[in-house]
This record gives sequence, C-alpha cells and structure tokens, in this order.
Amino acid sequence: MEIMKKTTTVLFLLFCFLSQSVLLANAQNIPNEAEVYSQIRKEGMDNSQIMRTLYFFTDVYGPRLTGSPNHVAAANWAVKQMTDWGLENAHLESWDFEHPGWVNLRASGFITAPVQDSLVFEVLAWTPGTKKAVKGQAFQLLIPTTPSPNNPNFQLPPTQTELTAYLDSVKSQVAGKMVLVGRPGVVPVNITPPAKRLNDEDLKRRFDPSATPQAFPTPQPQPTPREGQLNFQQVGEQLDKFLLENKVLVRINDAGREHGQIRAFNNRTFDVTTTVPTVVMRNEDFGRITRIMADGTPVSLEFDIKNQSFPEKPAKQKNGVKQEYLSYNTIAEIKGSEKPDEVIMLGGHLDSWHAATGATDNAVGCAIMMEAARILKTIGVRPRRTIRVALWSGEEQGLLGSQAYVKQHFGSFEEQKPGYEKFGGYFNIDSGTGKARGMSIFGPPEASSVLREALAPFADFGFMGVISTRSRGLGGSDHTSFNQAGLPGIGVQQDPIEYGTHTWHTNLDTYERIIEDDVKKSAIIIASAVYVLAMRDELLPRYSREQMPTPPVQPTPTPSPTPTPRRP
Ligand SMILES: [Zn+2]
Repeated sequence: MEIMKKTTTVLFLLFCFLSQSVLLANAQNIPNEAEVYSQIRKEGMDNSQIMRTLYFFTDVYGPRLTGSPNHVAAANWAVKQMTDWGLENAHLESWDFEHPGWVNLRASGFITAPVQDSLVFEVLAWTPGTKKAVKGQAFQLLIPTTPSPNNPNFQLPPTQTELTAYLDSVKSQVAGKMVLVGRPGVVPVNITPPAKRLNDEDLKRRFDPSATPQAFPTPQPQPTPREGQLNFQQVGEQLDKFLLENKVLVRINDAGREHGQIRAFNNRTFDVTTTVPTVVMRNEDFGRITRIMADGTPVSLEFDIKNQSFPEKPAKQKNGVKQEYLSYNTIAEIKGSEKPDEVIMLGGHLDSWHAATGATDNAVGCAIMMEAARILKTIGVRPRRTIRVALWSGEEQGLLGSQAYVKQHFGSFEEQKPGYEKFGGYFNIDSGTGKARGMSIFGPPEASSVLREALAPFADFGFMGVISTRSRGLGGSDHTSFNQAGLPGIGVQQDPIEYGTHTWHTNLDTYERIIEDDVKKSAIIIASAVYVLAMRDELLPRYSREQMPTPPVQPTPTPSPTPTPRRP
C-alpha cells in the first residue's frame, strides 16, 4: 500500500512535470528545426537581398580601403540597412588604425615615345600623387640578386656592399626619370586551368573526422641564406630612400600576372612622405616597355596621379600623446530572448583593396552574413541567445579590426574578460563567391560534431561537413582572431570559382563576378547554423583548461630570404 501510494505520487508528479514541460515549450512556441530550416530556405531563395546589398557595397561605395571615406560610408549604409531590417543596436565601433586614410582620386599614364598609347596600372596605396602631369624617360633599375644554390627558384637579395655599389652606379641616371623596378615576370600561358568547384569525394574525406588525413606534397627546400645578405625589406627601405633622394618622378612595379590582372597593395610605412609616386603596371605594358628599351630605343612616359590623405594634414601631437586615426567595425544584433549576454557572432571584412570594388573580397561575405541575419529576423525566430553581425575593417592590413574587437570584448584564454565564457562561436566567410562546402571550427571534436549534425540536411547544397582545428595561429581571415584568443572561430570552406586565379586582391574584383545562386545557398547554410547555436541548451563544447593549445609564438622579424607570405 505504502509502495503503491508512493508510486502513484511519483507518477502524479511526473505527469505534472511533463505537462509543465509541454506547456513551457508551447508557451515559448519553439518550432522544430526542420520547420525553421524550410522557412530559412524559402526566405533565402525567394526574397534574397544579397545582390542589392552587394550593389551598395561595390558600385556605390567601393573600393573600401581601411581609413577611407568610402569605407565609412559603406559602414554607415550597413548600419541603416540592418536597422531597417529590424536588427537592434546597429552602430560603429572605433579602433585605432594608427595611419591616416588614403584614396586615389584619379590616375592616367601613357607611353608618349616611340609610340603613343595608354597604359594600364593601379596606384600603390599610401603613396603620394604627382601634383601635375609629369613626363620623363623610362629607366630600368635591376637590383642585383643571386639564385639560391640549393633552390634556384629563389633569388637571394644582395649584401650591403653589392647594393651600395649598384645604387651608386645608377645614381646619375635616375634623376627625373620614370623608374621601372625589376624585370617583367614571365607568366606562362596556362593550358590546364584549375577546377572551379571542389570535388565532392575529396571534400567528404576532408570533412570526415574518421578519414585518414591526406598527405601534403613535400615542400620545396628553403634557400640557405648567403653570408651578409640583406633581407628584402631592408633592400626595399634603402631603395625607397634612394628613389626619393635622387628625385625620381614615378616608380613603376610589374604586376607579374596574366590577362592584365593587377594586385596593388600598400607602401609598407603607410606614410606618403617615404616614397615617390608609385604604380603597379600590368605585366603586358611593363614587358612592352622593357622590350623596346632592350632593343636600344628610348621610351618616354607620362603620368598624372591624384591621391588624397584623410585627414589631409594630421593634427599636431598634443603633450607627446600619439594621434589616433580611427577606423570602424560595424555591429548589429538580434537580441537573445532568454540569455541575451550569450553571443553567437557572424561576419566578414568590409574593407577592401583599392584596385577594384572588392566584390568577392569581401563585399559578398558581408552581404551573405547580413542576409543570414535578415532571414532569421524576417521569419520571426526568437533566438534564446543574442545573434551579432560584425563587418570588420583593417582585415587587409593584418586582421586589425577583429583583433581589436576580440581583445576589447572577450580578451583571450590567458587574459579573460567577462564576455569570454559567454561567447558561443563566430562564423566567418571570406573566400569569394563560391558556395559554402564545409567548415572548420577551433574547438574539440564534440564542437564540430554539433555543427556537422546540424548542417547534415544541407548535403543537397553540396555542404560536406565540419571538422575541428587546434590551431591558434593568426592568418587567413578574421575567424583566426577568435581562434588565437582560444575562442570558437568558424571558417567556411568555399568552392574556389575564380577567386585565387582572377579576383582576389585584383583590379578584376567586381559585382559581375558573383554567382547569385551560390551566395544565396551560403547565406541559408549560415543562417541555419547560427540558429542552431542560438537555440540549443548549451554553448558549444570548448577545450578544457588542460586541452587548450598554446598559441604559436608570433615570428619576430628576422632577416629572411623568403618572399613575403600571402596577405590576408
Ligand atoms: Zn578578404
């Protein structure tokens, strides 16, 4: 009887608890995942705003160089647009770029003798203009290099004695000239173009944690440095000084790429007073000028370049305090209904290089992440955690905006801020127009399992899985600013399409290169992943204190004969 009574009581209590849970679930009105996924797919496919967002970021505001008024205008437009979509708390957050902004307003260049023709080139960022149209003879300056004995593909820089002797020998010839630096690169005609989509089977293996990892090809041997050799940066610094002191009119670098592609980066000092006006010329024009001169015929060139710095005249330092040059990250949120201080982030970098309008790098990434948030807002999900969009600046100069943000809001595993424990993951997309095919997350295998299971229903889009990484190395794109701090950064693997071969950092990176169907699918996949992380009971599993990998030691700049590594 006693037992019977107890059982009845337990059953009654269990019944009360269960009905309570059902009532709670109904009160929260949480639809099941499959239902939400189908709403996300429908909204993302039928009412996509990606191409409209892309249009504003590229055609209207591009290029968006860090520190330029164009970038700030694009960021302000994003704040207004995300507010109009119903996102909350949209605003800009400043960080100190430490350099003034810069834009090229216009630039023209011509060969005027022995033939007349227009030249194709881009201006190197953070270099001065020419003040007026300038004319001069072309001169080719060839810094002496030596092939590495153990790897003839590498050219080793000169020693100080060799460099000084060479510069002294050409000193009297460069004044008032247009100086072509180096020989034109030889770009062989490509008869085996790389695949534009990744192979399904390769990807399945790559994103399957139980598959045996693929062997990497053996890297080329690193060249052995010569005794007393300078490094390329030291040579570059001395060359800049030499060209300025000897009143060179314009410096011309070879783009060294096929089909008129030009990648123009920046003067490494970000200070326009440290270089002469500098352009990066397409390989075809650089080669033509070189061949005519090599045939013994003098070549005359003309350039007219107008650049502007922001602010034009930096304010004087006050009381020895260094002047700040602010740049801005763009932030907007969907506030969490239950755990608003737990945050799931998604983003990409809004800043671009200046040779084109930066469509694939990375206006489209920003448009995809804004779209993912818009979809979730529009279908009316009420996330338990806060969903936060971040459009970074300063990525192209070294992931600067995202690093500043992580430091300020979350700290790192070693120096945690209050937000550190409540952070639930950051999705980043930054590899062009190709659709999302997989992801890698900084965290233990249990973290990648969560996402792999959540995104399994997107196999029909070609999404192949999620793997874990232990690397806290900084580089590639902004998710590694989170990884470096020991936080779950999530990078998206995409189909290459024309990214590495044509658009990445080049003068060809425009609106036309975006495949709408691919970018819609990426936005749908990311919206779904963000939804799952914002709704599940627990935050993503993280490395325990004992498991947490140590961050790699940041390399100190030492003389090195290797060329500069890939820029982010
Ligand atoms: Zn990028």
